[in-house]
Amino acid sequence: MNVLIVYAHPEPRSLNGALKDFAHDRLTRAGHAVQVSDLYAMNWKAVLDTQDAPGRDAAAPFNPSLESKHAFESGTQSTDIACEQDKRRWADAVILQFPLWWFSMPAILKGWIERVYAYGFGYGVGEHSDQRWGSRYGEGTLAGKRAMLVVTAGGWESHYGARGVNGPIDDILFPIQHGVLYYPGFDVLPPFVVYRTGRMDEERFAATREALGERLDTLWSAAPIAFRPQNAGAYEIPALTLRDEIAPGRTGFAAHIEQAVTAGALSGA
Ligand code: FAD
Repeated sequence: MNVLIVYAHPEPRSLNGALKDFAHDRLTRAGHAVQVSDLYAMNWKAVLDTQDAPGRDAAAPFNPSLESKHAFESGTQSTDIACEQDKRRWADAVILQFPLWWFSMPAILKGWIERVYAYGFGYGVGEHSDQRWGSRYGEGTLAGKRAMLVVTAGGWESHYGARGVNGPIDDILFPIQHGVLYYPGFDVLPPFVVYRTGRMDEERFAATREALGERLDTLWSAAPIAFRPQNAGAYEIPALTLRDEIAPGRTGFAAHIEQAVTAGALSGA
């Protein structure tokens, strides 16, 4: 199988760097082909702007969505964007690896998503009508592929528990797992989260590596998070709200999951 690791940490000798090298080695030894997009090493351009629409009419207002659509359809995208899209097509599984920075991903990775997810590739796919709201949330360009987050956090596991002060980790990661990964079609595996990184020693590092190794060994067999597909009957169209009989009385992120598999149960903490 082909695996793409999209990795966002500025220091190769960091904990993230060591875990990324370990993952590369583990997957390669298991016979998989692995590519790494090391965003800082690539000096990835993080901002989506007019340079991403070469040949555009400079006198016209810049419309990020429509210019992205035009560049994607006409084959005039920036080379770095097209190259990362090719890697996404090549990969059977994608791992996004990053330290939790301000409750989300580092800006360089957010910029990778904003630029690589062009209109027609990451969104704006499929039939849009009163009956169908595009191919997304379970359908889309990347359907049939798997994705997983590998995240490190300074906070303790309890800080991210069901009643922890930071909010539950599943809620914090929901916009990435549901909004960024499930949206274009990925089957999203439960995340691998390493908490309390300031308390890492050799013994814990070895245990963390082992736990990550087990997750990588089951990349193809583990059950994905049971997000509800948009077009399979759970949602009213075009309102796109859950039907009354689905998860009655439940609201918030968890209502969009048929059966919760929590990150805490699968953490590297
Ligand atoms: P490092 O700092 O490189 O290492 C962490 C520990 O692991 C160190 O003790 C190091 O000695 C040890 N280590 C590293 N490599 C090895 C190795 N090969 N073998 C054994 N031990 C090793 N945290 C939150 O919880 N929530 C937030 O919202 C949040 N926001 C942040 C925002 C910013 C801008 C920053 C800078 C940090 C933030 N943090 C937050 C903390 C952040 O998540 C952690 O600092 C980060 O996850 C640690 O990962 P690292 O790869 O940088 O670790």
